[in-house]
Amino acid sequence: MGRIVGIDLGTTNSCVAVLDGDEPLVIHNQEGGRTTPSMVSWNAEGEAVVGASSKRQMVTNPKRTVFGVKRLIGRKVSDPSVQAVIRTSPYRVVAARNGDAWVDIDGTARSPQEISAHILAKMKKVAEDYLGEPVTEAVVTVPAYFDDVQRQATKDAGAIAGLTVRGILNEPTAAALAYGVHHQHNQRLAVFDLGGGTFDISILAIENGVFEVLATHGDTTLGGDDFDRVIIDLLADGFAAQHGLDLRVDTVALQRLKEAAERAKIELSSAMSTDINLPFLAANSGGPLHLTRELQRGELERACRELLERLDAPCRQALSDAHCTAADIDQVLLVGGMTRMPAVQERALAIFKKAPSKGVNPDEIVAMGAAVHSGVMGGELQEVVLLDVTPHNMGVKVTGDRMSVIIPANTSIPVRAKKVFATTEDRQTFVAIEVFQGNHDGASKNRRLGRFVLGDLRPAPRGAAKVEVSFTLDANGILEVTAEEVSAGEGGPRKAASVQLEASSGLTADEISALGKQLLLR
Ligand code: AMP
Repeated sequence: MGRIVGIDLGTTNSCVAVLDGDEPLVIHNQEGGRTTPSMVSWNAEGEAVVGASSKRQMVTNPKRTVFGVKRLIGRKVSDPSVQAVIRTSPYRVVAARNGDAWVDIDGTARSPQEISAHILAKMKKVAEDYLGEPVTEAVVTVPAYFDDVQRQATKDAGAIAGLTVRGILNEPTAAALAYGVHHQHNQRLAVFDLGGGTFDISILAIENGVFEVLATHGDTTLGGDDFDRVIIDLLADGFAAQHGLDLRVDTVALQRLKEAAERAKIELSSAMSTDINLPFLAANSGGPLHLTRELQRGELERACRELLERLDAPCRQALSDAHCTAADIDQVLLVGGMTRMPAVQERALAIFKKAPSKGVNPDEIVAMGAAVHSGVMGGELQEVVLLDVTPHNMGVKVTGDRMSVIIPANTSIPVRAKKVFATTEDRQTFVAIEVFQGNHDGASKNRRLGRFVLGDLRPAPRGAAKVEVSFTLDANGILEVTAEEVSAGEGGPRKAASVQLEASSGLTADEISALGKQLLLR
């Protein structure tokens, strides 16, 4: 049997690691980098280019270069976070038949699963070149706060890339695993993970080799891209005030602004001020226009105040759900590139009242944890046991658009839970059940996972026919729903056929298989 590799499929960068003995080892890519930009572009010949080569040509090929596709995966175009991507992305986001957010490249609509599959295929190749053998299985990490649809879509991306995804692992849990294999004494950890697109906070207890996630919370619409966007707006608004031109409507200018914004943000993590210099960014009747400006760290922090404040609530909620206070936390792990920003570190310090752990590489620790998990699954690391939780309530919609919760947030997974529902009308012959995931009391404010109809009920007075709905949530956080009639009556309890959830998003098995074949032909 081949090796199971661990892949951190990041918003900005991806990383692959493998277990070497009982040590996780990060594998260099073909260009010598330990991480690979999560970027895919299509060249004029229609071939996909991935990673550093894609990043190199993004300014000259902005409409065919996709970055941050993780912000689109498993989401609808109508989602406010997708709308935010649309506003500042040079590439074109379009709605698929079912409303999912896809990307249009030269008239071909491509799903985020397909685009992510190109990145996964690149990481697979990196591992194969190093190991000298085919790699067909992987543990892939996702933000803890990813919902069922986003997890399923990530799994599908793996299938398109020719990888069986043996595990979908939450990123903060992965970080804790990588840290914990060397620090096995009993302790409580807070993993504060701010990456390119998402923020996750998890509270874990490590006790005698058992890694138990006590609570997890987060914000899937808060990450480094949002900080970049604040800088883009700052620069573009200044330019518009000076020259009366909006740079955001010109895709090449926008791409250059984006690059400059991210560079400035990164520089301001170590310097107090930085110069932004973008010659020939636009032109008017008077000739070419240039953007030259100094940006101070304080100015950046003031402009990002609202984003920084959004880090507090998920942390407080996670502490409360874990029945802890900041004083109970022994160690804070900072994960994700954005935690290099001093203002982010100060925020973590203010919340947890202790300095974060040093010596952890925030760009690599998640992939390393995925490799540790692959060792746990493969049986090489027998002394480690992992107990993770689901971040959201899962339930069905009942009268008055209320959410009847079947699996509450922060329940340990895997888990199976059931609830019995009664009919609401006389002689009702079928029930339509809508499944939702999310923490709002109002069902339709949550993520709709799908709907199914259970028919052929025995005619009975209202309330007498009963349907039992069962939810099975696997260790990857992926849900399977079944329902059966359990009414007692003439002839005793009777079971109607179980039905599968009809997903309202994602790709079909045929689409996945066809895309997989195309990718293989490259
Ligand atoms: P990740 O998804 O963990 O790779 O995080 C990537 C995000 O971290 C991007 O938004 C980067 O711009 C940001 N980032 C990387 N290095 C730094 C740094 N030194 N200071 C601030 N942000 C950074």
